[in-house]
Amino acid sequence: MEGGGDVGRGWVGYGKNMDCARLWLGLLMPAVAALDFSYHHQPEMEAFLKNVAQNYSSITHLHSIGKSVQGRNLWVLVVGRSPREHRIGIPEFKYVANMHGDEAVGRELLLHLIEYLVTRDGRDPEITNLINSTRIHIMPSMNPDGFEAVVKPDCFYNDGRDNSNLYDLNRNFPDAFELNNVTRQPETVAVMTWLTTETFVLSANLHGGALVASYPFDNGVPATGTLYSRSLTPDDDVFQYLANTYASRNPDMKRNSCRIKTGFSNGIVNGYSWYPLKGGMQDYNYIWAQCFEITLELSCCKYPRKEKLPSFWKDNKDSLIEYIKQVHIGVKGQVFDQNETPLSNVTVEVQDRKHICPYRTNKFGEYYLLLLPGSYVIEIKELSLFHFVILSNGINHSTPYQQDNSFSEQD
Ligand SMILES: [Zn+2]
Repeated sequence: MEGGGDVGRGWVGYGKNMDCARLWLGLLMPAVAALDFSYHHQPEMEAFLKNVAQNYSSITHLHSIGKSVQGRNLWVLVVGRSPREHRIGIPEFKYVANMHGDEAVGRELLLHLIEYLVTRDGRDPEITNLINSTRIHIMPSMNPDGFEAVVKPDCFYNDGRDNSNLYDLNRNFPDAFELNNVTRQPETVAVMTWLTTETFVLSANLHGGALVASYPFDNGVPATGTLYSRSLTPDDDVFQYLANTYASRNPDMKRNSCRIKTGFSNGIVNGYSWYPLKGGMQDYNYIWAQCFEITLELSCCKYPRKEKLPSFWKDNKDSLIEYIKQVHIGVKGQVFDQNETPLSNVTVEVQDRKHICPYRTNKFGEYYLLLLPGSYVIEIKELSLFHFVILSNGINHSTPYQQDNSFSEQD
């Protein structure tokens, strides 16, 4: 079986001494029933998440960010060394799946990712380092009503795409480029509120029905390049790198191997150039929540047979892990006043890559700027401070690169 779901099992067939050793180990390790490769409906998903939260309570925190129209909890499991609260310098990362209820692969992949992370902590240096350095928020389903509404799983369009008020949640967010005159749905409001409670730095939302990593913007105006059939952010180099980080490790995505050919290059595409949409979640994250988000289309078939799930996990596991690590690229730091008190809500941005809503320090005075290697001038507008930084690590390094900075008014 792929993944780490064998804790507390697999003792058969070893010699007597080995049995004793594994029994002893088994007593030390919390046992969680291995997650099978099938589709988990809300009760099974809740049972699994609660089981993980109970058995790995020191590194996980399970909470609901709100309820769907039909009253189902919108669960988020946090994994980290300090799962219940933010720590200075530890960036916040998130994955959200199943906002289209009939796009089911991402939902199951995130459950397997949870199992993979918690069972490898302390045993696998890569995962242990990731949990030491990152707070990872995982939301397997943003649209649990839609998932339950699917009567007959199908590869193409299905009733469960929308929430139970028949709204497409990926058209339901405010839009920076045109009026999005729709009634905000409970699931959308819950995510918007959630985004104000944490300083999320990097994110991906998981979909199905194609194989591609799509990056902002999804909507645009001539100033962002729409006259040229694209809509690019000032961080386009970073977004292409992020999308490539995911797609290059997923062989089918890189090859663009769905039957319907779309002309994606290396498995990545600018959202607008694929097809424009308003009210999408990735643009909202980037523009209003200071969080770089991309959209991952993970399966040609939206709701494939469960027998296909092991190969989806195999094709996506490395990408899912490597993408989380990218939350550490670039520059992070804190801004203080003359009394060494952290300054919140001051604008910290790189010259020549100003955001529509300027990125500001959080309540701890922290900022996180995702950047590739290069020379940058970071400006703190309110203090008229400029800071020159050089990021020199190669982007092909397997370890993330970063530079810590503290600014104060005396700089
Ligand atoms: Zn979708």
